[in-house]
Amino acid sequence: MLKSLEITGFKSFGKKAVISIDSSITAVVGPNGSGKSNVVESVRFVLGEQSMKSLRGKGQADLLFKGSKFVNSANKLKVAISFDNKKRLLSLANDSGKNISLDFDLVTVARELYADGKSVYSIQGSEVRLKDVSDLLSSVHIGASGHHIISQGEADRLLSANVRERRSMIDDALGLRVYEVRIRDAERKLDKAKQNIAEIEAARRELTPHLKFLEKQVQKLSEAEEARRELSIRYFNYEKSAKELISLKENTLRTELFKIETELSSYKEEPDTENENLVEDEISPIREAMMRISGEKMALLRTRETLERNLGRTEGLIEALRTPKTKHVNNREEKVIITKSEFSNFCGLINSELEAIIDGSDFNQDSVIDSLKSLTNKVKGFLSKYNSGKEEVVEDETDNSVELNNALSIEKDLKDQIQKNIETISIIEKDEDLIRIQLNKKEAEIREREASVYKSRIERTRLNAEKSRLEYDLERVSGDMAMLKEEKAIFEPFLVFSLESDNNVTPIGKDMLQTERRALERIRMKLEDVGGGSGGDIVKEYETAQERDEYLRKELNDLNGSIASLLSLINELRSTVRTEFSKGIDKINHQFSDFFKAMFGGGNAFLSLVAELKNKSEIEEEVEGEEESGLTKFERGVEIHVDLPNKKVKELNMLSGGERSLVSIALLFAMSQVNPPPFLVLDETDAALDEANSRRYGDMLERLSSSTQLLVVTHNRETMSRAGTIYGVTMSSDAVSKLLSIEFNDAIKVAK
Ligand code: ATP
Ligand code: MG
Repeated sequence: MLKSLEITGFKSFGKKAVISIDSSITAVVGPNGSGKSNVVESVRFVLGEQSMKSLRGKGQADLLFKGSKFVNSANKLKVAISFDNKKRLLSLANDSGKNISLDFDLVTVARELYADGKSVYSIQGSEVRLKDVSDLLSSVHIGASGHHIISQGEADRLLSANVRERRSMIDDALGLRVYEVRIRDAERKLDKAKQNIAEIEAARRELTPHLKFLEKQVQKLSEAEEARRELSIRYFNYEKSAKELISLKENTLRTELFKIETELSSYKEEPDTENENLVEDEISPIREAMMRISGEKMALLRTRETLERNLGRTEGLIEALRTPKTKHVNNREEKVIITKSEFSNFCGLINSELEAIIDGSDFNQDSVIDSLKSLTNKVKGFLSKYNSGKEEVVEDETDNSVELNNALSIEKDLKDQIQKNIETISIIEKDEDLIRIQLNKKEAEIREREASVYKSRIERTRLNAEKSRLEYDLERVSGDMAMLKEEKAIFEPFLVFSLESDNNVTPIGKDMLQTERRALERIRMKLEDVGGGSGGDIVKEYETAQERDEYLRKELNDLNGSIASLLSLINELRSTVRTEFSKGIDKINHQFSDFFKAMFGGGNAFLSLVAELKNKSEIEEEVEGEEESGLTKFERGVEIHVDLPNKKVKELNMLSGGERSLVSIALLFAMSQVNPPPFLVLDETDAALDEANSRRYGDMLERLSSSTQLLVVTHNRETMSRAGTIYGVTMSSDAVSKLLSIEFNDAIKVAK
C-alpha cells in the first residue's frame, strides 16, 4: 500500500532522496550516523507528528538540513509519502462529516516546512489542514498514537507505555480512533450547542422584559384604540344630540320672539303728551262752560237771597205798617240809608268773592266752606254797620198808607224778581245738568282712555321684558353652540372621524347630556394619559421582538433537539467503541498468545482491561451520558500480563531487555494481525535479539508481511535476509545522506 517516500531538506537529507517501496518487507541499512533513523522520522513527520521530541529536535529549525562544509543549508524541507489507492480505501471527511473516498489510484500526502516556521500540508498537491491528513490516515488505521512506527530504542515501547497510552495505541490498531474522533467531534458540537443555548437563553432573558414591556404597551394601545372608538361614537352622538337640542331651543325661542315682536308692533307708538293736550282741549271748554254756568247760577242764587231778604224786610215793613200804634221797633226796622256806591261796592265785593270761589281750581268741600264762611262774615260786617240801633217802643201815630203802598209795590216787584230768578235758575240748572252730563261723559271717556293707555303700557313693558329675555336666551343658545365648538376642539385629537357617519346610537336626552359630557371627559383624560402617539412604531417593535423571540425559541428547540441527538450519538459511539474494543482485545489476545508462544517457545501472555482512576480535572470534563458505563471516574486502560515458560516472574519490569523487546514485538505483531495497518516502520527493533530470537523475529516479520508492509531499519543480517528490497543509506564527506537500492550481498557491506 505504501508506494514511495520522498525526502528533501529533512535533517541529513540535504538533497532529494527517494525510497520506492515495491516489496512487502523493505530494509534500510547503513552505518551508524548515516541517516537511517532520519528516514523513519521523515515518515513520522509527514504523517503529522507534532512532538519535536519524537523527532529528536528542540525546534522546527532542527528539522531543516543544516548544511555542511560543501552543501548549503536548506530553507525549506519537504517529505512526501505516496499510497496506492487502487482499492479506494483512502477517504476524507467532507464538511458535513461524511467520508468520501478519494478517487485517485495514487494518493500523495506531503508536509513542507519553511525556515520562517511556516508549515504546509497537502494532499494531491492541494493545501489542506492537519485534520484532513489525520482524517485521511485514520481511514486506513494510521492514528496519532504512532504505534505503527517504532523508533530506535523503543522496541519495548508497548511495554514501557502506561495503560492509557497503550489503550490509545490499541484504539488506533483496532481502528477505533475514527470513533474517538467522531465522539470528540460530537462532543465539540455538543459544547458548541450548549454554548449557543446559553447565548440564546441570555438573549431571551434580555429580550423577555422588553417583550413584556412592549406587550403591555401594545395592550394599552389597543385599549386606547378601543377607548378612542368608544369616545368617538359617543362624542359624535353627544354632539349631534346637543346640536339638535340647541337648534330646537333656538327655533322655539325665535318663534316666541317673532310672536312677541308681532304683538309689540301691534301697539302703535302712543303720543302721550299730545294725547294729554287733546284731553285738555276736549275737556276744558266743557269745564269752563260748567264753571260759567255755576257762577251764573250762584249769582242768581245770591241775588235771590238778597231779593228774598229784601222781600222779607219789605213784608215785615208791610206788616208793621199794617199793624197799629205801638210797636216794639227794632232799630233794624228803621230805615237805613245806604248810598248807592256803598251798596254797589258791597255787591261787587260779594260777587268777586263768589267768582273767586267758582273760578278756584280746587272744588273741595273745605275750601268752599272756608270761602263761604269768609263771605258770611263780610256780609255780617256789612249788616252790623246798619243794625246798631237799640230796640225801643215807638208810638206810631202817623199815617203810613203811602209807605204801605210803596212797600207793597216793592213787595210785588221783589216777588216778581224772585219768580223770574227762580225761573232763570231752573233754566240754568237744566243747562247745568246737560253740561254736567257732558262733562261726566267726557271724564269717563278720558278715564277709560287713560286706563287703556295704562294697560297697554303695562302690556308693552311685559312684552319688552319678555323680548329681552328671549333675546338673552337666544344669545345664550348661540353661546352654547360656540361652547360646543370649543369643546370639540378639546376632543378633536382623540376622535376617529371615520366613525362619524356610522353613528346610529339613540340620541341623548337633555337631562342626560351633562352626565354624558362628564363620562366623555373621563375617557378623554384616560386617553390623554396614554399619550397621543399613533403607536405604530411600538406595534412594529413588538412584532419584531416577538418574531425574534419566536426565532430564538425555535433555535433553542432545534439546539435542544440536536443536543439530544448528539448525546445519543455519543452514547452510541461510546458503546460501539466499548464493544469493538473488548472484541478487539479478545482478538488481539488470541494472536498475542500465539506470537508470545512462538517467541518464547511456551508460556502465555494476554491483555486485560483496567480502569484507572482519573485525575479530578478530567472527571469534570467528562460529558454527560457516560454514567451508565460505570467508568466515569475511571479511564480505561490496558494491562499486559505475561507468563514466561519455566519462570515465575510475571512483572514486566523484571524482564530482560531482550525479553521486553520480544514481548513488545509479539504484542505489536498481534495488534497488526487483528487489524492490519497498511505499514509498520521498525527502527532496529531487533537490536537486542540474539541469533535464535533474530530468526524467530524474522519468521514473525514474514508472517506479518502477508497483511502489512514493513519498513525495517536494521543491522541484523537475519532481518536483511527476509527483506524483498534493501536500501542503503550512505553519508559521504558532504554530510548529506543518500539512498540507493542495493542487493543483499552488498547490504552486508553497506551496513558495515
Ligand atoms: P545509527 O545506526 O547509529 O542509529 P543512523 O543511521 O540511524 O545511525 P541517524 O540518527 O539517522 O543515523 O543520523 C544521524 C545523523 O544525522 C547525525 O550525523 C546528524 O549529524 C545528522 N543530522 C541530524 N540532524 C541534522 C540536520 N538538521 N542537518 C544535517 N544533519 C543532521
Ligand atoms: Mg538510527
